[in-house]
Amino acid sequence: MNTARHDHRRLGRELALFGTDPLIGAGLPYWLPDGAAVRHAVEEYIREAEGRAGYSHVYSPVLGKRELYEISGHWSHYADDMFPPMELADGEQVVLRPSLCPHHAVLYRSRAHSYRELPLRLAELGGMYRSELSGVLGGLSRVRAIQLNDAHIFCTLDQVADEAHAALEMIRDAYRALGISAARYRLSLPGPGGKYAAAPDTWRRATAVLADVLERSGLPYEAAEGEAAFYGPKIDVQVADAAGREATLSTVQVDFHQPERFDLTYVGADSARHRPVMVHRTVIGSVERAVAQLIEVHGGAFPAWLAPVQVLALPVTDGQADEAGDFVRRCREAGLRARFAGPEAGSLSARIRADRLVPYQAVIGEREAAAQAVALRLRDGRRLDPMPGDEAVARLSAHVKARSTELWSPCGVRA
Ligand SMILES: [Zn+2]
Repeated sequence: MNTARHDHRRLGRELALFGTDPLIGAGLPYWLPDGAAVRHAVEEYIREAEGRAGYSHVYSPVLGKRELYEISGHWSHYADDMFPPMELADGEQVVLRPSLCPHHAVLYRSRAHSYRELPLRLAELGGMYRSELSGVLGGLSRVRAIQLNDAHIFCTLDQVADEAHAALEMIRDAYRALGISAARYRLSLPGPGGKYAAAPDTWRRATAVLADVLERSGLPYEAAEGEAAFYGPKIDVQVADAAGREATLSTVQVDFHQPERFDLTYVGADSARHRPVMVHRTVIGSVERAVAQLIEVHGGAFPAWLAPVQVLALPVTDGQADEAGDFVRRCREAGLRARFAGPEAGSLSARIRADRLVPYQAVIGEREAAAQAVALRLRDGRRLDPMPGDEAVARLSAHVKARSTELWSPCGVRA
């Protein structure tokens, strides 16, 4: 399945999912309507999954004062990857953020917290920016403007293992629903000579917790030196692209450093102030890289719940155009992404071929129109017995809502 033919840049162009323009700039892709539909479905899945897992969603701005990143440590450890600061008229410098962590730390600090509120899980699908060199930029996998599926869990040291474990479970569930698989799990440790914050003892503690979580999950993993974040070790979930190149999609990180830098506290059962631990985690990483991966893994034939167009209504002749139009309208009312392809777009077989990546094609001939029915064709060539239009809408929307990677449940399929 994973071949060069499935290079997401090529498919992105052919399927009109996204594009770039020198006038906007390298590494700054835009999303066309069909690509935006896929992205929206992914984002919706993530928000729902996080809601079920007890996360609260927040918004924070993509800009922050330089001082914010001086406190977080990004300025001294990460400045090479940041865009230069913007100087405002009053002499203040603001920066396009290279990560969401400092904003979330400040957000946590904006009010007092009791140990009863912990673990406090704050999530955001937020923008961040990296000043990558133009030579490494490509399609959606290496970009300068990133939409990150991010979250920070503020918790006690005792809660870290369970939170990290639950995050790994979310990652595994998401991969199952999206139809992607992990190439390997990596425990990323500091390397010799790198610029790392926090004391060695802190690093050892954090590393022991993550290694334990990986052992407990029964996941095979490799330790890799030099791959840690500057503030702590992390579990990286690696995926491979169509050319076999590996990239990190998901991460779980333990951080004792930023709570210290931002002086984060909670009031314990003993009424004293304590320092929380910050767990940084992302389920699908950047939305850009996740969609690039989806395009390559599925070769553009997305699972129905992710497909830009889920249902295509095909009147055999102009005589059934009204019925087909009505079917499109009913699909849309049920929340399905449906489109109409009439005879002006070519013969029936030509229309079916042109939209062969659409999971469901509803053919409406004279007989179906008279019976208010549709004959569904599945993307893999299977044909279902004609069924009433209402039943088709109900079954399609139930299948899409279930977010299955299967094209259809087997009942009623004619071989
Ligand atoms: Zn973070």
